[in-house]
Amino acid sequence: MGKYLISNLVKKNIMKIADLYIRVSTDEQADKGYSQRDQEERLMRYCELKGYTVRNIYIEDYSAKTFNRPQWTKLIAGLRKQRNNKYTTLLLFTKWDRFSRNISQAYQTIDLLNTLRVEPQGIEQPLDLSVPENKMMLAFYLAAPEVENDRRALNVFHGMRRAKKEGRWMGTAPLGYTNQIGEDKRKFIAIHEVEGAILRWAFQQIVDNNFNTEQIWKMVRQKAAGYPRFSKNNFWVAIRNPLYCGKIFIPPFKDENGHFVRGQHEALIPEMLFNEAQQVLDGRKRVIKPKIVSMENLPLRGFLKCPQCGRMLTGSASKGKMGNYYYYYHCSGECKVRFKAENTNKVFVEQLSELIPKPGMIEVYILSVVEDFKNQTKKQDSERRQIISQLEQLNTRMQNARIQKVDGLLDDDDFQMLKQDTNAKIEKLEAELGNLSDKHKEINFLLEKGLKKLLGLDLRYVNGTVEEKREIVSSMFPENLVFDGVQHRTPRLNSAVVLIYQKNSELEGIKKGTNPFELDLSQEVTQLRLELRTHRLRVCCSTN
Ligand SMILES: [Zn+2]
Repeated sequence: MGKYLISNLVKKNIMKIADLYIRVSTDEQADKGYSQRDQEERLMRYCELKGYTVRNIYIEDYSAKTFNRPQWTKLIAGLRKQRNNKYTTLLLFTKWDRFSRNISQAYQTIDLLNTLRVEPQGIEQPLDLSVPENKMMLAFYLAAPEVENDRRALNVFHGMRRAKKEGRWMGTAPLGYTNQIGEDKRKFIAIHEVEGAILRWAFQQIVDNNFNTEQIWKMVRQKAAGYPRFSKNNFWVAIRNPLYCGKIFIPPFKDENGHFVRGQHEALIPEMLFNEAQQVLDGRKRVIKPKIVSMENLPLRGFLKCPQCGRMLTGSASKGKMGNYYYYYHCSGECKVRFKAENTNKVFVEQLSELIPKPGMIEVYILSVVEDFKNQTKKQDSERRQIISQLEQLNTRMQNARIQKVDGLLDDDDFQMLKQDTNAKIEKLEAELGNLSDKHKEINFLLEKGLKKLLGLDLRYVNGTVEEKREIVSSMFPENLVFDGVQHRTPRLNSAVVLIYQKNSELEGIKKGTNPFELDLSQEVTQLRLELRTHRLRVCCSTN
């Protein structure tokens, strides 16, 4: 048949031309009757039966939410080119949901097709759209899949909400956690060993407040090399997420207000730490904001106060004639106070090492501090001696009883009774003794651990990174330093450091009343003695 003949037949309505529209979508492929081959077979069979001529076949792999689909656009463009034709063509698909899932858009598109003289038809849901009542049927065909979709989404939504309320984290594990499946086949999130540790470190840094968040992020980025989930954005979101202290947020829904529930996952950090970090982030606490450029050369930035006006000194660099940089701590106020950073840093290290005894002194030192402590706990020692002598008496009594039993002077029942009674007493006394010596051991241990840490502090400072330096400064000096151009002064020191310094002066014969930071030590010491007496050594000896 020639081309001319066909168009004549079409014009006389003897032969109809049909374009086929097949839509598949990845999530529907599995459903029976929705595969591409299946749709194509049924459409072809239908055209054969009706004697329609198939012109073009459009195969779409796209959602039917809108008509903004690649193949659909092509189809409409093709139809527009033919708009001058005087005859009507057919656009065939299996069901109306292949055409659209959106009622209002479907009506508009049907109108558009009509102006192009194209009649859309779902071959398995035939509708004569010239009959107005059939539009209701069309609405039904179009809406049914959408209703089904909405219902499915709603079920998922309620299911997720219920799970959340039970404290279960839904979805991809946040930074610092991994998705896992338990023995009961339930999904849960567990702390990621590396990511978790880095985040925990970051929270601690925020609370320590020696660096601003941007600087902490830069350090985190270095630590997290090779862990691509540590993006800047993820990090900034993470440090605000209460999930890390074990809470899950339930968003508001209908009458229900948004609220928190206790999560089933293991918290990365304690709630107190998280809350404190939030306070720092909210800017309610003193914020130290040294610029990053010059950190290496300005480790004391944010700790130094202006000796004239009391403002915090800031730091900066200026370029010398040879292209070298010179660093300064300076006051931003009117007083124009300005110190060379190199000298200021050097003096600080000198004063610091005067304050801290040399490493060789450690043992001498612990011994003498323990001696001090023992003097204060003489009462305990006498208790211990008493218990030991009681134990000796009881042991002698048992030995005698055994001899008497062997000699036939003590019968079996009496011996058993005596043994039971004595053993009970021995056990009780041994437990008491254990408690006493434990306390002693604990104190020795704490002293050793705490003091050793403190004793090497000047060396650790010199050899440490900026970060470590700043940690040492903030743990030793609860208040700011004032540099007057010659030396640093500060009103208060960590009390353990004070104790060490005093011991040191005694041992090295340094005369009382002078010390490297011009402190008034008398008050500190009274307080420290008190702490020792109440056994709260942990407080003053731990430096971290
Ligand atoms: Zn000033």
